[in-house]
Amino acid sequence: RPVNQLTIEEARQEAEEIKTKVVQWGQEYYQNDEPSVEDYVYDQQYARLVSIEQQFPSLQTPDSPTQQVGGLGETELTKVPHDLPMLSMGDVFSTDELFEFNDRLEKNGVDQPEYNLELKIDGLAISLVYENGKLVQGSTRGNGQIGEDITKNVKMIKSIPTSLPEPISVEVRGECYMPKEAFAKLNAQREADGLPVFANPRNAAAGSLRQLDPQITAKRELSTFIYYVPEYQTLGVTTQSDALERFKQLGFQVNSNYQVVKNRQDIQRYIDRYTGQRNNLEYGIDGIVEKVNDLALQEELGNTVKVPRWEIAYKFPPEEEATIVRDIEWTV
Ligand code: NAD
Repeated sequence: RPVNQLTIEEARQEAEEIKTKVVQWGQEYYQNDEPSVEDYVYDQQYARLVSIEQQFPSLQTPDSPTQQVGGLGETELTKVPHDLPMLSMGDVFSTDELFEFNDRLEKNGVDQPEYNLELKIDGLAISLVYENGKLVQGSTRGNGQIGEDITKNVKMIKSIPTSLPEPISVEVRGECYMPKEAFAKLNAQREADGLPVFANPRNAAAGSLRQLDPQITAKRELSTFIYYVPEYQTLGVTTQSDALERFKQLGFQVNSNYQVVKNRQDIQRYIDRYTGQRNNLEYGIDGIVEKVNDLALQEELGNTVKVPRWEIAYKFPPEEEATIVRDIEWTV
């Protein structure tokens, strides 16, 4: 039923039911690296909760999953606070919704901004802290304020430089992922060894990185793409696309499939291109990310408690649905 037809009591009850499910799924996904439902199931329930809370603002409590970056629970790893929070990201599921997001930005005085489009890598966020060019700390996102210390683990990943060509002090962030081929190999081996297999490359990456014994991480083929510098002034860059080029100069691996766009036609083309190509890539992607390219403007737009206001994820439809759409096209 549409949320505007619910009574407050019905809405409260449904919101509570969804919260219980979403919290439970979050725990399975973030802490145990073992989801029991597909992402789109989670996304649908989460979106329903968002719309209930929008319709009945009194139901939006601070402990709601819509108000918190998920999740940090029991962990054997040492906890580390983040100097600057590591946030989640808002998401949309259609280009209409994406363009509504752009309309809102543009209505709020941001005049036809340039956007940088990137692939949304299906892995887990990591933070890397360098002091005088030396890698001193690696951490997971955790609950956004506090993450897990994975310094020894990130040092095992080939694409992460332990020292930079310049003696700078900087924190960079990006995605740690497991390439599809490595994932298939790992699961085949685990099956042969009678061990439980990982549900998907994202969970395999998280399970491999969040290990007490860094030697286990070393044996897993993990890789990274760096895409964010919280204090961009440190690197002397003014746009997101410049930051990506600067990361490359510093020796980080950067995903080269990004594109600066100025109009909606190009945004649509980018989405179409990667919706079509996603299965041919060596790593998993679950959508595309649109970011305001101007870093000063990003700063001005700021964040909500949970997500930046200057970026949004467009999530691909689930594979099954994409197949059905194609089948229908074939029979017409
Ligand atoms: P998210 O994964 O949807 O988006 C935020 C994350 O995107 C960032 O933290 C970053 O790690 C990542 N990212 C990848 N490429 C990026 C790029 N180019 N630029 C910037 N960031 C990039 O948000 P979330 O809060 O981490 O997780 C929510 C999502 O996780 C849900 O939408 C759902 O799909 C999935 N989830 C699934 C379950 C389940 O049970 N299946 C449970 C919880 C969460």
